[in-house]
Amino acid sequence: MSRRAVVIGAGLAGMLAAAALSTVADEVIVLDRDELPDGPEHRKGLPQGRHAHLLMAGGLAAMEDLVPGVSMRKHLLAAGAHEISLSSGMVALTPEGWLRRWRHEGPQMLTCSRALLDWAVRVAVLANTGAKIRKAQVLELTGSAHRVEGVRISTAAGETDLEADFVIDASGRGSRVVTWLAALGISDVREKTVDAGLVNATRIYRTPEGAESFPLTMMQADPYQSRPGRSGMVLPIEGNRWMVSLAGTRGGQPPSDTEGFLQYIRDLPHPILGRLISGAEPLTDVHVSRSTSNHRRYLEKTRQWPERFVVLGDALAIFNPAYGQGMTVAAMGARNLGRELERHGLTTPGLARRVQRGTARSVDAAWTLAVSQDIWFPETRGGSPNIADRLLTSYTRRMIRTATSSYSAASAIWDVTSMTTGPTRLLRPSTVLATLSGPPLPAAAGPPLTPEEREIVRKLDRTAG
Ligand SMILES: Cc1cc2nc3c(=O)[nH]c(=O)nc-3n(C[C@H](O)[C@H](O)[C@H](O)COP(=O)(O)OP(=O)(O)OC[C@H]3O[C@@H](n4cnc5c(N)ncnc54)[C@H](O)[C@@H]3O)c2cc1C
Repeated sequence: MSRRAVVIGAGLAGMLAAAALSTVADEVIVLDRDELPDGPEHRKGLPQGRHAHLLMAGGLAAMEDLVPGVSMRKHLLAAGAHEISLSSGMVALTPEGWLRRWRHEGPQMLTCSRALLDWAVRVAVLANTGAKIRKAQVLELTGSAHRVEGVRISTAAGETDLEADFVIDASGRGSRVVTWLAALGISDVREKTVDAGLVNATRIYRTPEGAESFPLTMMQADPYQSRPGRSGMVLPIEGNRWMVSLAGTRGGQPPSDTEGFLQYIRDLPHPILGRLISGAEPLTDVHVSRSTSNHRRYLEKTRQWPERFVVLGDALAIFNPAYGQGMTVAAMGARNLGRELERHGLTTPGLARRVQRGTARSVDAAWTLAVSQDIWFPETRGGSPNIADRLLTSYTRRMIRTATSSYSAASAIWDVTSMTTGPTRLLRPSTVLATLSGPPLPAAAGPPLTPEEREIVRKLDRTAG
């Protein structure tokens, strides 16, 4: 009998889920209400696509497992993405000081525009699996609390039901899954929001001539000063461009006008980002996003869960984007789906619940990392630190201070933030020992630049003149 799977949403979670499903379903239909561009172009249904999107090593590893016959790393690099080593290729000011740079390679992350990433993933999945995309808006699920049997869709031809043996909701942060489930009789979905009131402001610049090799440079927000957090980042993307991304929590948000944008950069704790872009040519306006709270739907905890239905990506949980985890959690959820399907097939009873519970583990890890920092910003809504948070934070702050000059502590932090290992990595004996010993060197007075990079900054100063 022919088996059909339907995926709601052709974003990253949806396309990767389609790749996972294509190994066990005869037909995989991905539905999206948006017109999908033929190239790496911004689209309406993905407003966050204007902002910086770092793809962490854990997310890339999950993607590598998902799309048959393609190295996603090579495919993305060939399309123009940059690969950046967290240990040697990044200049970063943490709340505890500048991180030293190392010769050894740490985990790598990829940077490119979100438009390029989504397009490249879509092309790879469509070319290497039998999945097909159809333009349609999903209105609701069909079936019962016992089993989802398809979706009701709206297309140019009108409304109709589309039957399916398996349905994935990957419709992103605006997903109506809680309403859809309630209509089937499941109304005990617990939700939680922790909102630091973060605003992102992003502008793209042409990379100044001679600065092409300059490393990704960032200043992280400091949650521990009882002041709004302010951060900034200059990251290379495809097409010889820099994406300049600013973010501030409630009370310290960056403005959307171009003068205010530049002033915000100049007011960051160190002048390096301002110096990098003061003479650079802007290629876009400033784009602002306010969709940045952490929001979680505990779908794995409902009393009953319908067979043949799984929720992945932002439809399941969203995180403050400052921590760069959403796409990685989406990819890990799709990989978990793929592994379970491989083991148990599409129609085994209890499969959907097992996938939902397994996916909750990577959500837990990302949620803990994001929320344990956001609760310290003074105007955060939905959470505040308790005694356990205070104890954990004094340990992690000491570890970050140590990481400014200890490879052992720094690599533990990179492994966890890039989601290649779980948070227990921070409690390994070697990491604990390094943390207790503290930083082996005094704090650096400024950004750790090579002589060539210093010369680039001096030249940029002269150009901006
Ligand atoms: C400002 C900002 C910066 C970010 N930076 C990072 C970062 O650096 N690193 C990182 O990993 N993550 C980052 N994220 C998070 C990342 O954008 C999301 O985690 C990711 O987009 C999730 O992918 P998704 O496929 O679940 O949802 P989406 O990419 O939002 O895709 C959902 C799709 O569903 C479609 N759709 C919606 N409703 C329907 C419907 N009813 N019927 C049919 N189609 C529908 C939409 O058109 C869309 O195509 C950032 C987020 C923001 C807001």
